[in-house]
Amino acid sequence: MTDIMTKQQRHTCMSRIHSKDTKPELKVRQWLWTHGYRYRLNVKGVPGKPDIVMRRYRTAIFVNGCFWHGHEGCEKFKMPKSNVEFWKTKIHRNQERDKQNYQVLKENGWQVLVLWECELVTKLFETTMQQVEVLLHNYCLATISPKIKEYIKVDEDAFQMAAEADADYGF
Ligand SMILES: [Zn+2]
Repeated sequence: MTDIMTKQQRHTCMSRIHSKDTKPELKVRQWLWTHGYRYRLNVKGVPGKPDIVMRRYRTAIFVNGCFWHGHEGCEKFKMPKSNVEFWKTKIHRNQERDKQNYQVLKENGWQVLVLWECELVTKLFETTMQQVEVLLHNYCLATISPKIKEYIKVDEDAFQMAAEADADYGF
């Protein structure tokens, strides 16, 4: 496999990078900020350098482009017609790397939220962010008091991880 892109490939890349709805990460940040959440960006030393790190909620948010990160079953994720193998390999590698990063984070008690660009289009944005808010609160509550587990719907695995991580943040 070669890393050298043809003109066409480069064009495809750039047009996807700079597509007009490509500021989803910014939108997410703004929403969180105006709703009173505080976070840090691209923290070094956190696996996968999440786009947004919310320490209080022990949550890492990744805002993923559907093409580069290979959003399965998504209509924004279509293989270019030429050099299919090249793209398949490249995107598969991204997917694997993502998976590994998420895994490490979860093993360390972090909640991983992956927001796909297709979920952040204007029409769906508010709904998506409301779901994010619910997940943040649930995870935070589960971290504070394991007894609350019975009253809120939290992914059982996530809950286990939260319980383990308890000491680190002195809740
Ligand atoms: Zn998608």
